Amino acid sequence: MTPCPGGHLGRTLVLGAGRTGEAAARYLAALIGGRVDDVTLVGGSSSAESDATRALERAGVRVALGTEEVRGEFDLAVASPGIPVDSAFFRAAAQRSREVVGEVELAFRESPERWVSVTGTNGKTTTTSLATHLLREGGLDAAAVGNIGTPALDALADRGAEQWLVAELSSFQLATTSLLHPRVAVVLNVTPDHLEWHHTMDAYAAAKERSLANLSADDLAVVSVDDEYCRAMASRARERGARVCELSVGREPAAPCAAFLRAGRLVVRLDGAEHDLLDASELRIFGLHNAENALAAAAVALELGVAGADVARGLASFSPIEHRIEPAGEVGGVRYVNDSKATNTDSVEKALTAFESGTVVVMLGGHDKGTDLTSLAAAVRGRCRVAVCYGEAGERIARALEAEPSALEVVRAPRFREAFGAASRSARPGETVLLSPACSSFDEFANMGERGRLFKSLVRDLARGEA
Ligand code: ADP
Repeated sequence: MTPCPGGHLGRTLVLGAGRTGEAAARYLAALIGGRVDDVTLVGGSSSAESDATRALERAGVRVALGTEEVRGEFDLAVASPGIPVDSAFFRAAAQRSREVVGEVELAFRESPERWVSVTGTNGKTTTTSLATHLLREGGLDAAAVGNIGTPALDALADRGAEQWLVAELSSFQLATTSLLHPRVAVVLNVTPDHLEWHHTMDAYAAAKERSLANLSADDLAVVSVDDEYCRAMASRARERGARVCELSVGREPAAPCAAFLRAGRLVVRLDGAEHDLLDASELRIFGLHNAENALAAAAVALELGVAGADVARGLASFSPIEHRIEPAGEVGGVRYVNDSKATNTDSVEKALTAFESGTVVVMLGGHDKGTDLTSLAAAVRGRCRVAVCYGEAGERIARALEAEPSALEVVRAPRFREAFGAASRSARPGETVLLSPACSSFDEFANMGERGRLFKSLVRDLARGEA
């Protein structure tokens, strides 16, 4: 099956009244009377009236809020990524619609040329922004869409004829794709996360693998060979005939297409031709995981025709994104680093590789997702001097750290502010206070952004006190 842009969409249903649902309803409403007969939005049980839903009603959308009840028959339903495919809400829509797709799938069908997809458990936003930056550095028109912020459908209205869409895709968004066929698809890593939605690791990995499903010999899959799930995906993609660029920060793959570190330099090989780009120490984004993100983004840009010199220049000029190992200032010889986005254990383990062993005071804690802490605890004992554990998950993390003897000093604090105070008092000149909490923030904050901003404002207060 190939997408058929411009086809008649008929009677349409949108599930969910969040940002994605609104974007889908707005997009479809603009087509009412032409390719769309009507649009119904069912918001879900916790949805409520807002300026956005009122605007949709004015645009001709039938809006049902505070409910999951689906009435009527539809040609096409567009589901928001927050709604699990096995939920009663999703199933109700599936029963009443000829087809259910996600917003990304609809955007692709409407405008299927020049897509790049980026997925993985960690590193998606960094890699998506960096790939977009590198394409622009090479003079191409590129926009970052998807999970990173702008829903893909919102980007279609003023999409230029030559524009590349670099789509950051979560496993939730990928779970509802079928025809999605990017020209380059990146899968960075698959480690445990979001199991409350997907239930099993296999289902979670399978959702990410959907981004590779339709690739052909003219396309490129950039897939890590450093983790087991990704390695299996890479070999299946190759069996289906796709070109696979093996991504590794652990070794140099022998494959004709590969992206790797050689003696500390970033090297990308495409169909046997090597591009020796730059030294990892020239990057402004730190840690082995960021070298991996940089290699993936570089492979995308080179594959799409950006010259090696432009890629190297773009890599050297890219600064950390907010809340991702973001330098937050220095007070009394102590560096403060905001990695509030590290909401799972693997991201913390990776973040710790960006710092000299034994010089880190790490802040860990927040909303407890119940994840296994064995490997995190070993990494923290191995690399940090002090760990300040706080919030809902604080006690469980502290116990995991103390489960084995080590030189690590474990400090307990009730909440975020007290934890910050304890961390800044513990840190010695030359050391780093790193907020890389391994947990989501919902026990104290609306989101990780709010947590990261408070961290930075506490650093500023400290600097003022010092002055
Ligand atoms: P995502 O969008 O997938 O959440 P981000 O680029 O926002 O990823 O990074 C989130 C956090 O994950 C970062 O703060 C960092 O600690 C960690 N991280 C980034 N890239 C990687 C990677 N390639 N592998 C593992 N962890 C990573």
